[in-house]
Amino acid sequence: MLPWTTYEAMYDAARNQPKQFWLKAAQRITWKQAPVTACRTRADGWHDWFPDATLNTCHNAVDRHVADGRGGQAALIWHSCATKERQVISYRELQGRVAGFAGGLRSLGVEKGDRVLIAMPTMIETAIAMLACARIGAVHVVVFAGYAGPELARRINDVAPKIIIIASCSFQGQTPIPSAPPLHEALARATHRPRACVIVQRAACPASPVPVRDHDFHALEQSAPAGPVMLRAEDPLYILHTSGTTGKAKGIVRDNGGHAVALALSMELIYGCKPGDTFFTTSDLGWVVGHSYGVYAPLISGCTSVIVEGGASASAIRALCHEHDVKCLFTTPTQMRLMRQESRHLSGAILPALARIFVAGEYADPTLLDWARSYFHKPVVNHWWQTETGWSITAHFFGLPEREPVALMNDVGRPAPGFCPEIVPSMPGEQCGEIVLSLPLPPGCLAGMWKEGAIHVPTAYLDETGQYYRTFDEGMIEANHAVHMLGRSDDVIKVAGRRISGVQIEKIIATHPSVHACAVVAVPDALRGQRPVAYVVPDPTVERTLSAGEIIARVSEVLGRWIGLKEVRFVACLPTTVSGKITRQRLLVS
Ligand code: AMP
Repeated sequence: MLPWTTYEAMYDAARNQPKQFWLKAAQRITWKQAPVTACRTRADGWHDWFPDATLNTCHNAVDRHVADGRGGQAALIWHSCATKERQVISYRELQGRVAGFAGGLRSLGVEKGDRVLIAMPTMIETAIAMLACARIGAVHVVVFAGYAGPELARRINDVAPKIIIIASCSFQGQTPIPSAPPLHEALARATHRPRACVIVQRAACPASPVPVRDHDFHALEQSAPAGPVMLRAEDPLYILHTSGTTGKAKGIVRDNGGHAVALALSMELIYGCKPGDTFFTTSDLGWVVGHSYGVYAPLISGCTSVIVEGGASASAIRALCHEHDVKCLFTTPTQMRLMRQESRHLSGAILPALARIFVAGEYADPTLLDWARSYFHKPVVNHWWQTETGWSITAHFFGLPEREPVALMNDVGRPAPGFCPEIVPSMPGEQCGEIVLSLPLPPGCLAGMWKEGAIHVPTAYLDETGQYYRTFDEGMIEANHAVHMLGRSDDVIKVAGRRISGVQIEKIIATHPSVHACAVVAVPDALRGQRPVAYVVPDPTVERTLSAGEIIARVSEVLGRWIGLKEVRFVACLPTTVSGKITRQRLLVS
């Protein structure tokens, strides 16, 4: 039971008495050494949460629930939309498999602080690998299974993993895509050499193991079990890469203690979930929502988590909600648009357990939310998120008595505790502008950025005063604190809810010898929210004709096909400012 009866009481408590607020919130976690200090400024100027405390995230997500009598409860329910397989794994089974695989990682030489790169689709084994790393203090780096070799090589060089874990294939629709070719290409390109690779063999497309280098995932699970090691709250739990303004993917570092506290609180406060409830996110485990709400938050809170591989159909989502008494469904506007397309031919069964549906990740137009409300006959609410924050910056708080939200102009709710947003107006006197957050950020947010083997202050996100975190999102804030999110202020594009920087795509196109200049902009897409369009100026000194197909192929070879670049417009020149900067806004109106 939450101690507040109104949003204002909760928010003011976090704002006016942060130490008491967060130490109380920390009681949801089982610590080896409980925190006495809430937040401390680090020598480098960034901040650590619960710096005098020790814990193990895997123990909190798994072992303590078995000890508390939840061993027989389903921990994870997995459904593959590609192969139609289903698996249900109880907390007790999860404990055994995670402890065994953690022992297996140890036998391969993985120690506390080592990075383990996991390039897998959403599977039970992905969650097991993440939790096994957390158990022994290794830092997991989950990357999207669809990355092409060069992008994978960049991640390998960035984090220098001791071990790489893959599944023998992932799926595009029903088609198996073997994972070995991009892995081999990545290893050939990367300067870092991992010690070993681990493969989850899948019947649809097994991989031929490379002798000595490759190990079988399920055989390693049979290793002598490893117990949870105690870690400092500020020790890193994982690194997750995301696209930023500079065009280079940034490695966001998450800690153990602040992360566990923020997620446990959010399950009650935002999603209204208690132990034993079932939570279902359609997000891939390789993205931040999959990390936070596919694995850690539901498990830390003793809930059952439903996860899916591939794009789930409306009927599959309804069936999963129905069969597993899902209480909260967390999805994206893109997934909802797909459901709307398909659902015209479906009638809706009643879902008595489903209490509320949450969307995040990209702009959700009010007609889409209205459609979802009438299709599910349930409240549908929007909230605002970033990989960097790890949980929602603003939300509608299901754990508190609240009015039903109205879907006006991308109303993403009010600030979550500890988030203090302000607007930097684009023009003096304007209500709209970039949203910044005053420091320190609450627990659960980025503990730093990974660069050259160490954790650094995320200076790329600081404003010139050093007092504010820049979200690079624009919006406005009402007098009652309600935030309206209007879109990115930088070049980041959201393709089906996944983040990619336009500059990142431009850099690849620019490497083509026949390209003189290029610019990538986002245009609205009826299904995927946004899609990239490339404007290319061919090099006039090169005689051969440049084709759109060559550009498209080059981009998908490096970044993967999910980018969905389909349109290349050849132009004689790009619009620029007097100082020579490309004005992408003018391309959008041309
Ligand atoms: P990611 O780090 O991939 O979760 O992407 C974060 C970005 O997604 C944010 O900076 C926003 O631009 C966008 N975003 C997240 N939630 C919403 C939302 N509810 N409405 C509109 N855009 C959103």
